[in-house]
Amino acid sequence: MQISAHRLGRSQQQILDRVQLIAGPAARLAEQHMGGSIGHVDLIVTPRSAIPDVLTQAHRPLFGRRVNRSHWKQFRCQGTTTINPAGTLIIIDADKCRRTAYIDVVVLHEFGHAVQFARPGARALLIRNLRNNYGIEVMPDAEGHAANRQVDADEAEAARLEHLARKLAQLT
Ligand SMILES: [Zn+2]
Repeated sequence: MQISAHRLGRSQQQILDRVQLIAGPAARLAEQHMGGSIGHVDLIVTPRSAIPDVLTQAHRPLFGRRVNRSHWKQFRCQGTTTINPAGTLIIIDADKCRRTAYIDVVVLHEFGHAVQFARPGARALLIRNLRNNYGIEVMPDAEGHAANRQVDADEAEAARLEHLARKLAQLT
């Protein structure tokens, strides 16, 4: 796992410190509870204003010039998990994740998605989804509906990891 900061302000340094402290234990908790591996993960802590650029840089090598930061301009999240050329990319919003307890919840949740994305067939489905979102190749309705149901199921499963934050609280 590779953890880095992107355009982080000095006052946000403590968020990166917390993420570095808990990332290993949080990844192991997610793997144990879901029975899978997180695979190759790059984790970036960044202010909200930089998230569209980080996503654009991750997706352009995969999807080409159609990828435009305007796709992500309205993007609001505490954290998000997507793919990059090397594997899975987790982005933590340093503006939204200020409190320690909240950082822990978000990191656990996103590692849940990393385990999901490392499952057989998941990356191929994500690529089809993103190609659809970028207007490269439209998904047939039936496949789109199935993909939406998968997203809902994935969210519910990731949310079930969040209560494990109390185990991470013991690390402080
Ligand atoms: Zn989620």
